[in-house]
Amino acid sequence: MTEIAADPSHPRYQSLLMRHRLEEAEKKGMLAGSALIAHGRGEAFDYLLGEQTIPSALRATQQALALLSSAKRPVISLNGNVVALAGKEVLHLAHQLKCPVEINIFYRTPERMKALLGHLNEIKLQEKLDVEILGAEPDARIPGLEGPRANCTKQGIFESDVLLVPLEDGDRCEALVAMGKTVLVIDLNPLSRTARMASVTIIDELSRVITNMNEMLLSGAATKPVENYQNAQTIEEAFTHIASFLSSEG
Ligand code: ATP
Ligand code: MG
Repeated sequence: MTEIAADPSHPRYQSLLMRHRLEEAEKKGMLAGSALIAHGRGEAFDYLLGEQTIPSALRATQQALALLSSAKRPVISLNGNVVALAGKEVLHLAHQLKCPVEINIFYRTPERMKALLGHLNEIKLQEKLDVEILGAEPDARIPGLEGPRANCTKQGIFESDVLLVPLEDGDRCEALVAMGKTVLVIDLNPLSRTARMASVTIIDELSRVITNMNEMLLSGAATKPVENYQNAQTIEEAFTHIASFLSSEG
């Protein structure tokens, strides 16, 4: 670990830690070439949110967790950045929810798949978690998408009813919604197509969200849906928060 990232008193400790995790994942061959660019876009929005979980994001998190808890076939979809940034935390979440995870990457190569599967299986063993890891052998396709990006497993994403897809791409999110699924996303950018397409949009940083979800589940407060939840309001409140942050800085 780099010196600065190892010092929790540094004001950007969390952010440096996430960058460090990405660097390590990159060395292991887990990431696509654009992974760091996607992360940088996320960081910019996180800065505008004050690098914190805002109240509307916490409500969306609770709503997402309630939907996952009451789903018939919940699945958590993982890409390279998600595994790199919060692989351990996501596997703990899946263990608690008793749901499978599925590796579903945009740029699929056998080497990347092997690196991601290897990393997740190592965590599973170390943490003694009981989680099914899908995605190694896709046998179904998401309708409306071209090429290998449409690949998924029948048992996992294809037949899921509620799907948590952190850091999803906009048109895949749209295609999953068109399949009739309840799609829960985590995306720091309230302007992205993903954010606007999803059933529930958690506008917050991935590792904070997963930590919040794990804590909510442990405290038993997780399965209660938010009364009269409106996703458009969640997005609106993120904009309001950013606008007030900008005017206070100006
Ligand atoms: P879309 O396809 O939805 O219109 P995009 O093409 O701009 O969005 P992608 O590159 O497909 O974005 O995906 C990256 C998204 O993930 C960005 O919107 C970025 O804000 C978000 N993101 C990156 N890192 C994180 C993180 N750690 N936590 C939450 N969101 C993140
Ligand atoms: Mg995109």
